Amino acid sequence: MGLKKAFTSSLEDVIEKAGGCAVVDGGFATQLERHGAAINDPLWSAVCLIKQPDLIKRVHLDYLEAGADILITSSYQATIPGFLSRGLSIEQGELLLKKSVKLAVEARNSFWDALKVTPDHRYNRALVAASIGSYGAYLADGSEYSGCYGPRVDVDKLKDFHRRRLQVLVEAGPDLLAFETIPNKLEAQACVELLEEQNVQIPSWICFSSVDGENAPSGEGFKECLEVINKSNKIHAVGINCTPPHLIQSLICKFKELTSKAIIVYPNSGEIWDGKAKRWLPAKCFDDENFECFATIWRDSGAKLIGGCCRTTPSTVQAISKVLKGQSQ
Ligand SMILES: [Zn+2]
Repeated sequence: MGLKKAFTSSLEDVIEKAGGCAVVDGGFATQLERHGAAINDPLWSAVCLIKQPDLIKRVHLDYLEAGADILITSSYQATIPGFLSRGLSIEQGELLLKKSVKLAVEARNSFWDALKVTPDHRYNRALVAASIGSYGAYLADGSEYSGCYGPRVDVDKLKDFHRRRLQVLVEAGPDLLAFETIPNKLEAQACVELLEEQNVQIPSWICFSSVDGENAPSGEGFKECLEVINKSNKIHAVGINCTPPHLIQSLICKFKELTSKAIIVYPNSGEIWDGKAKRWLPAKCFDDENFECFATIWRDSGAKLIGGCCRTTPSTVQAISKVLKGQSQ
């Protein structure tokens, strides 16, 4: 039953409707800041769930207008322990997690309803993917890019970290689950085991980060990392996010050899975050034209889902959407 379902899921459906390669949205925090949100906070963009939920919806609408087939919710760095450390209760934290899904679903529904009166529009009804950031993203110490969780972190600890948030997000009714910026094999295994344990029925994707364009940040090869994922029919797509664009093509080729699952890539803009100075260094920045060119190459290399991560914007996503769907929107 599981296998058959895998071929007719909402995710495969949206890929097909998009013409073989669906468009994922772009940088969330980047666009929030453009709308004036203050996100200099340990909770990063999740702080807006508390303070400026309307801005979150605005950003989702920006990406829908740009042509995104999949919206990723604002829950990347939203965790119950994170909310607790801000003085909120467990109940309040859980409500905020649910709110992250609700805001994206509301934006999707209102955008789609408005389109019903527009004849000949070329949009697809977007899916909402609930973002589940890695343990390192919660720690906010850069370990999502090093993969070093230390000797005291084992698979059970990671499952315990992810369990309640995953349950709450699933209850909120997203179309998909998006595990993002996973830096090592251990956390991929924890995510897969949790999906089985909780018997999650909606499709999931798992995206790794990569700093060298060869391996997971932990130094483990993707062959090892993908073994556990390939065995699970709960995972429908696997790939790379928040990694510089120039590393992506060879990673797609590598993944093609290692898995038969759909491949998803949503790189960052290639800018480098200077953790000491707390600012983005414009080195190797790729603009929208580059992304247009890259998106074609990535699709031709075998990616089925393409979008952007940090520092990409709705205009990046619009460029990707245009070139992949061969249209002017
Ligand atoms: Zn990113």
